[in-house]
Order: sequence, then C-alpha cells, then structure tokens
Amino acid sequence: HFGAQVRAPQNLPLPGIKHIVAIASGKGGVGKSTVAANLAIALAQEGARVGLLDADIYGPSQAQMFGTQGEKLRVDEQKRMVPLERYGIKLISIANIVPPGQAMVWRGPILHGTIKQFLQEVAWGDLDYLIIDLPPGTGDVQLSLSQLTRLSGGVIVTTPQDVARIDAERALDMFKRVQVNILGVIENMSYFEQNGHKTHIFGQGGGRQMAEQYKTAFLGEIPIALSVREGGDSGVPVIVGAPQSPEAEAFRQAARNL
Ligand code: ADP
Repeated sequence: HFGAQVRAPQNLPLPGIKHIVAIASGKGGVGKSTVAANLAIALAQEGARVGLLDADIYGPSQAQMFGTQGEKLRVDEQKRMVPLERYGIKLISIANIVPPGQAMVWRGPILHGTIKQFLQEVAWGDLDYLIIDLPPGTGDVQLSLSQLTRLSGGVIVTTPQDVARIDAERALDMFKRVQVNILGVIENMSYFEQNGHKTHIFGQGGGRQMAEQYKTAFLGEIPIALSVREGGDSGVPVIVGAPQSPEAEAFRQAARNL
C-alpha cells in the first residue's frame, strides 16, 4: 500500500558484473537517456568495461543515440543475446529486437520476464559497469529490476525546473523504498552558454538543492547545447563527436564524480 517500504529484495548480483547503476528520472524528456549514453561512454573512455541496458521498454532511444537502428541482436550457441558494440560499449535495447513502429503493449509479468532476460540471458561478459537506462517515473520496470538484481546504486537526472524536480524527488524516493543506494543527482539542461554568458533557461540550482535536501551527492551539471541534441539524433554522442567541447567535459566530470 502507499507509504509502505518494499521488503528487502532477496536478489543476487550478476556474475561477472561489478557495478549495476540505474539512471532514473521523474519525467520523460529531461535527458535521462542522453546522460546514460554519455556517462557510459565516459566510463569506457577511462578504461572501464561498460554495458548499457536500454530498459526504457516503451520509449527506447539508445539505438538512435548509438546509431544501431535496424541492426538485429544475434544469439550465441548458448541461446544468449549478444549485445551490439559501439564506442566501446556493449548495448542491449528492445529497439534491436522489436521492429520500429511496433508498440510494446505489455502487462507487468511480460515486462518482468523481459527485464529478467535482459539481465540473465545476455552474453554481457565481464563488466565493470552495467548502466541501465530506466523508463521515466516509478513503474513496473523499476520494481522488477530491484527484485531481480542487486543494484549498486541509482542516479537521478533532473532539469532545474520545479515540475521536473518534484517528479525527480519521487524517483529518488522510489530508490529509497526498494533500498537502492542513491549515488547522486545530475542536473541536465542547467544553462545555455553563449559568448561566455550563461542563461539559466529552466531556473538555477534546483538539482544541487535537491541533492542537499536528500543528503546525496550532486554529480554535476550539463549545459543545454546543440551538440548534445545533434549527437543524440545522429548516433554519435557528443562525448565521441565533440570530445573537446565543454558539454563533453561536463559529462566526463559527472562520470568521475560517480
Ligand atoms: P529522456 O530520456 O529523459 O526522455 P532524452 O535523453 O531522450 O530524454 O532527451 C530528450 C531530448 O532532449 C532529446 O532530443 C535530446 O537530444 C535532448 N537533450 C537532452 N539533453 C540535452 C542537452 N543537455 N542539450 C541539448 N539537448 C538535450
């Protein structure tokens, strides 16, 4: 019932995977997937072995971000899915299984089974980090994940705006209830910078305030930048396409703070 603490999950870590980190947001469109992709690549660039699981079943965007649309996942001799590889990342997305345009009209149990397969029936190999791009909000996928495996922690992505932050606080509360360690808050779309002048389009300081209020780490702020949007749309994330840019550096800094 509402307000209840969900019982401690009797789950196990996945063999060969050191850290499982879930990226969450309260609402859609705040840049959760963009942050997940760039963070994953930043970690790989530092020499870590990284997998990215696109668990945003209803709105998968990682195939677009990594330019793998139209590619189909292979299955190995042991009937495990073999992740696609791009920019040093092992990638699994529902978009590479179900044809584009086909809606995922699934009830909880099917969703649960799919998440279980994505965790247990994928040839992930040895990984330092498995980054999980969650759907927005606090729903079935989040619950399944917390029941199926032991997450090392959750990262909350928000914009500075009140409407985003209020929902982000719910996502943070969800992690608490399912006893997932909160690694911190990343504020996306923090400001737009032009000619050395910063404009705080969605307000200022919201992410940092939220981190302070919930006694968790503030992992960094990512500016609004054309290169970030273009990188996501073109399949070459900004951290690969414009590694010298301030926005790429902001993603690297957030990854270092993890
Ligand atoms: P979510 O996963 O929260 O739904 P996305 O990562 O899909 O959000 O981002 C939503 C849109 O905003 C995408 O078109 C993306 O390219 C764009 N976007 C995200 N972060 C930024 C940013 N820092 N600067 C510019 N555009 C961004």
